[in-house]
Amino acid sequence: MVFLKTGVVNLRYQLYDYFFGRTEKETCHKVFSKRIAYYQHLDEKGQREFVIRTLVFLKSVNIQSEPGFYVSREMKLLLGSAFVQITFGLRRDVLEHFKRIFIFSRPYSYKNMNTLFNGDVNPLTGSVNLSWPAVEMGFVVPTEGANLAIHEFGHCLILENRLCGIIKKILHPKHLQSWERLGLKQLVKIRQGKSELFRRYAGTNLMELFSASLENFFEKPYAFYAENPALYKSMCLLLRQDPRDPKTPTGFLHLLK
Ligand SMILES: [Zn+2]
Repeated sequence: MVFLKTGVVNLRYQLYDYFFGRTEKETCHKVFSKRIAYYQHLDEKGQREFVIRTLVFLKSVNIQSEPGFYVSREMKLLLGSAFVQITFGLRRDVLEHFKRIFIFSRPYSYKNMNTLFNGDVNPLTGSVNLSWPAVEMGFVVPTEGANLAIHEFGHCLILENRLCGIIKKILHPKHLQSWERLGLKQLVKIRQGKSELFRRYAGTNLMELFSASLENFFEKPYAFYAENPALYKSMCLLLRQDPRDPKTPTGFLHLLK
């Protein structure tokens, strides 16, 4: 298995590095050093790769907002960081189907529906819709197991993985299958009220469980491991990283022994 990375920044990112200006990278570093816990703990090599991956991701999406609501560079960087965090151990660093991110200034609703939403993804239009106050809240306390941007990008990852041909799969089919097998057992536990970690909503289906698992995986890794070590390890294999090693999360294999 070739999961461990070498000591140098991935060659691909060394190359991409030339395409982005110094100021752009420095702004990114400043914002993340202040606001992104995952980034703060990374070693220098990890931070450099994280910055490049974020800039690559942001170049690949179209971020729009409702009229009169300004989305600043810092807001875009925060959004991008959520996607990069999830995919940091994976080869895939952009979304190919979900290309449009639409930001609302507050919770929104759809025609003929009474429900208010903070976020949803639409596979038909390839868009991710988010209410900014809820997104921002997710970054305020990074240890409570709730991060809307991570949650919605988690849905994108699963949906897009389904659309990919076998060669381009984002997630390893074998690891995804074992995650689903363990996930089904966890769903039962949640529905029976036997999970201390997962909120009831995570028991809706495997799709919601995956996104809720991501939130806990990054924000409460030790509590997640304590409640269900097999599911936690399965997440590590699937995402090829272990947040319990915050300095080098993608050099994780030794932690699985
Ligand atoms: Zn959801």
